[in-house]
Amino acid sequence: MYDLIIVGGGPAGLTATMYAIRKRLNVLLISKDLGGKTNYRLALPWIDEYQVIKGLEVVNKFRNELEYLKFARQMEPVVRIEKVDDHFLVHTKGSGELKSKAIIMATGAKQQRLTVPGEKEFIMRGLCYSALSYAPLFIDRKTVVVGHGELALRAAAELATVAKHVHLVGASGGALETPIGEKLKASNNVTVLEDHEVIEVKGNGFANRLVMKTPRGETIEIEAEGTFIELDLIPNSQMVADLVDLNEQGCIKVDKHGRTNIPGIFAAGDVTDNYAEQVLVAVGDGAKAALSAYDYLLPRL
Ligand SMILES: Cc1cc2nc3c(=O)[nH]c(=O)nc-3n(C[C@H](O)[C@H](O)[C@H](O)COP(=O)(O)OP(=O)(O)OC[C@H]3O[C@@H](n4cnc5c(N)ncnc54)[C@H](O)[C@@H]3O)c2cc1C
Repeated sequence: MYDLIIVGGGPAGLTATMYAIRKRLNVLLISKDLGGKTNYRLALPWIDEYQVIKGLEVVNKFRNELEYLKFARQMEPVVRIEKVDDHFLVHTKGSGELKSKAIIMATGAKQQRLTVPGEKEFIMRGLCYSALSYAPLFIDRKTVVVGHGELALRAAAELATVAKHVHLVGASGGALETPIGEKLKASNNVTVLEDHEVIEVKGNGFANRLVMKTPRGETIEIEAEGTFIELDLIPNSQMVADLVDLNEQGCIKVDKHGRTNIPGIFAAGDVTDNYAEQVLVAVGDGAKAALSAYDYLLPRL
């Protein structure tokens, strides 16, 4: 029986695993990959190296250590976790069941794709999914935000503070009557294309044009040096959906110690209802969840 199984090898899971190893716990990290979303990097034709706060150095250091510590990791998907008496059973796709006294969920969240021609080709080449991370790179550039919810409006508002122009595609109705929606409608450098639908991403090495259908069925094309797909994130919480409390978006609810409502299950990073999807936030969450799990385990070691 393991003391601790950590599911997910992104910034949150890697940090939690390193903490657990240093505390000499019998720990196993189970993940589909090491690095998680830090494996994505946005490439832009006008930038070689960019200066956004990433925390990548610390994540890469932990990843390198774990690549070496083979006994502490297992590379495969987890499909379900169940509670049995005073421990947990982790069902994996390949190795069956693994037993643990405690669990940390660090499985992140998925970006929703547009699934239109050209999207796949230009992912992270002028087209990306995180204005929160990359907006500062678009000073005086022509940008497009695609999405209809809070995330898209927030992204458009942030880009509008630096970009030459922002087209917001897809937002409509109630979303635009909020304070941020009103602000966007009144901004000189923002054009809201209500109810338009993106049908293709075009480019030449990097995405630079978006083709869309207007509500009247016409096809139009706009220039976009940066395209941001800002649809709601889908948390990877399905393996514990029957076990712990989730919020309306499916994020695992945690308290300030990273504890879920089930003693012995902790969560960290983008899969939780904590604020801000950022590497350094996930790193901090992972450290906190590991220390919290250690406190839980101390009387059980
Ligand atoms: C395109 C893009 C660019 C970004 N750029 C930046 C940036 O420049 N700066 C910044 O601070 N933030 C950036 N972010 C946000 C940042 O990457 C995330 O907030 C951060 O990676 C979250 O860490 P995490 O560990 O919670 O989740 P993730 O990094 O998503 O890691 C989740 C891990 O769980 C694993 N996993 C998922 N499901 C299962 C399963 N069923 N079984 C086993 N393993 C599973 C995955 O394989 C992965 O290893 C970016 C995000 C995106 C999408």
